[in-house]
Amino acid sequence: MKTTENDVIVIGGGIGGLMALYYSAKKWEMKFSHSKNPIKRVVLFDGSDFFPSSSIASSAVAALRGAQNNPNPSPYSQDLVNSFQKLNEFFQEHQENSFFIGIEKVKLTDIDRPMMEEVAFLFNPPQFLNFLKTLIASKLKQLEIEFFIRPELISSLENIKYYRCISALGAYSLIFKPDYMKQCDLEGKIVQGTYLYCESQEKRPSFVVQSHLQKNSMSYSSLTKLWKMGVASNERTSLIPNKEDLFGLYQFWSAQNFSLPPFEEWKVKTGVRHKISRKLPRVFFSEDHKIAHFHGAYKNGYLLPFLDGQKIANELFRD
Ligand SMILES: Cc1cc2nc3c(=O)[nH]c(=O)nc-3n(C[C@H](O)[C@H](O)[C@H](O)COP(=O)(O)OP(=O)(O)OC[C@H]3O[C@@H](n4cnc5c(N)ncnc54)[C@H](O)[C@@H]3O)c2cc1C
Repeated sequence: MKTTENDVIVIGGGIGGLMALYYSAKKWEMKFSHSKNPIKRVVLFDGSDFFPSSSIASSAVAALRGAQNNPNPSPYSQDLVNSFQKLNEFFQEHQENSFFIGIEKVKLTDIDRPMMEEVAFLFNPPQFLNFLKTLIASKLKQLEIEFFIRPELISSLENIKYYRCISALGAYSLIFKPDYMKQCDLEGKIVQGTYLYCESQEKRPSFVVQSHLQKNSMSYSSLTKLWKMGVASNERTSLIPNKEDLFGLYQFWSAQNFSLPPFEEWKVKTGVRHKISRKLPRVFFSEDHKIAHFHGAYKNGYLLPFLDGQKIANELFRD
């Protein structure tokens, strides 16, 4: 698809790219009446037909896991706390409209620390991403901005014209290493993430329970009627896990007095994750501030885009 120099382009349609576009659209909404350089067209290039989005494969629990109680918070845990607040605001704003947006607010309990209970959000990934696309499309329509979603892979920006670009390839940035990312000090590696899931029609409230010591969690969503347990990924796990490898995980949660569906009924979901150091910036800007790069947030990929997306919108569309 031919682009023009007034277009905003977004590469990557996972939660990273979509949240950055959502906050950008909100920003344009505020400046609409007095902007000197109004945006006329947005093109989202999404390669998920070729390379599945981690956001879809995700168990998608967003929780602080105690970060809010840290008396000496690191910049990373402070970011988690700020992101959580933004996610809460997003939830309140859209919940008021009383339509289901693919997020549930639940309690997270920690079995190793019986006193710890906190709020968590459970996402239904396909439903949430579709909701976001619909929300963005309707905001852009109100602003009379054309919006196109193109199922294409972009490896270079050389022949693409654009006013601003949001690049959010997630873990795939490490495979493609596009030429326009030269300025990014991109490090990290691709690891797998896996969870077990099982459908069940039983009537019980949604919950998340985690084992701080085992570093994994289990959840049940009454909206999706899905049990999920994971994420099991470590250096020893093969990149293509099989169900039997995960039997220990099932045994662990069965031993905690949950009456779970039989192991035979569970299925495995696997996706790629971008493992990066917590100390690295998650968002990079090109020197001319025309391109923002957001390349995966590893474990908190369903939480950090609520902060990072806003940061991208503020930096890219300052004037
Ligand atoms: C099994 C599993 C469980 C997880 N559990 C949790 C959890 O419980 N809580 C949590 O917070 N996080 C969790 N994560 C991590 C979280 O899901 C990710 O960090 C997050 O979804 C990453 O989003 P993203 O938008 O950066 O990348 P993605 O969702 O991968 O999106 C990137 C998109 O870019 C597209 N793309 C890539 N290259 C190109 C190109 N050259 N041109 C065009 N398009 C391109 C891809 O096709 C893809 O659609 C989990 C991940 C996995 C795999």
